[in-house]
Amino acid sequence: MLELEDALGRILSKIQPLKHETVALTEAAERVLAEPIVSPVDLPRFDNSAMDGYAVRAADLAGASGVQPALLQVRGKVAAGGLFAGNVAAGTCVRVFTGSPLPEGADAVVMQEDTRLDPLRPDTVCFLEGVRPWENVRLRGEDVKRGASLAEAGDRLTFGQIGLLAASGLLELRVSRQPRVGLLATGNELVEPGRPLQPGQIYESNRALLAALLKRAGAQPEIFPLVPDTMEATRAALERTLATCDVAITTGGVSVGEFDLVKAAFEQIGGELNFWKVSIKPGKPFVFGRAGSKFLFGLPGNPVSALVTFLLLARPALARMQGTSETGLSQCPGVLTGPLANSADRRHFMRVVQDHAGRVRSVGAQASHLLSSIAKANGLVDVPPQTTFPSGATVIVLRWNC
Ligand code: AMP
Ligand code: MG
Repeated sequence: MLELEDALGRILSKIQPLKHETVALTEAAERVLAEPIVSPVDLPRFDNSAMDGYAVRAADLAGASGVQPALLQVRGKVAAGGLFAGNVAAGTCVRVFTGSPLPEGADAVVMQEDTRLDPLRPDTVCFLEGVRPWENVRLRGEDVKRGASLAEAGDRLTFGQIGLLAASGLLELRVSRQPRVGLLATGNELVEPGRPLQPGQIYESNRALLAALLKRAGAQPEIFPLVPDTMEATRAALERTLATCDVAITTGGVSVGEFDLVKAAFEQIGGELNFWKVSIKPGKPFVFGRAGSKFLFGLPGNPVSALVTFLLLARPALARMQGTSETGLSQCPGVLTGPLANSADRRHFMRVVQDHAGRVRSVGAQASHLLSSIAKANGLVDVPPQTTFPSGATVIVLRWNC
């Protein structure tokens, strides 16, 4: 049996990033950038007003107060998107609005709340206090200087970065292609949801769960038909999936039961198996294989085991294919509100709920067929063999929803 880290190391050593493609910026959120981007422009692009008010020369308002206001002549106005043709000469000001380009000659903006208009002298404004040079001015390049880094190759693009790249005028980006992942569920007992169940049959649930997870992981899931437990059907399903997908993920059929055919079928179609047992709970039976440039992840059938092995072993590989260095789940520390006990002789990745305040509690029973436990949970805690973490202990939660 392999340790988790050894298994992961072996998987990642086989995986290469996929080719790159060009996508529209508006489609690029959560995609992994293939090349660094430097800013083609200064941001802000020009000095502009941070307020609705008046562009002035700060020196003109030296000593202004409520008792002794400074009076300046209004020479015009400029809206956001406009340009003031003239110059703010000494003794004058220009009406501006948030985002208005700062008129030539001005070096500060006074917000309109700090001014008074005299109805008898509509072309002048009273200033009731002074202003520091460059106050209320958003300076050219203070956000980003032309040539500065906006994003690095390998970044999974956030909405904040998308906004920044849009502001810099970018339309398209080079990103890694998303892995196409075919989902196969094996088992004679499985029935498509929506069909009637015969005695002994169950609805298939792993493909729907994994498809949802795959989308979050930046992959493109494709659901294939159910696979009965025969060698021929398993072989045909694997061949068909790997013809069009980068990765096949199967569930079920990887332990030592009579109907566990995935390993043999994969070898029969020319695949090479790398290992099939990892020392973790849940999810000991696990297959990683390679057929040319295509890969197989054979997950256990129990839904909890399928989820945990996907998160710990398949998800990092899909991240690597997308060229990101962030291959693991987010690690969030939190304090246990009750004990977490592993009496087994393997590491147990126990399902927990972490609340908004960071507190962590077990979802209760941890058996690997309990779907309600994964519906409640939002993360896993790695509990070593024969170990109890007491209530109040700080643990690291591997979060799958952030
Ligand atoms: P297996 O790994 O094929 O031995 O399956 C282990 C357990 O998981 C059995 O109880 C199966 O019925 C169940 N199981 C296998 N595949 C699925 C699936 N796709 N959806 C729901 N349960 C499954
Ligand atoms: Mg089975």
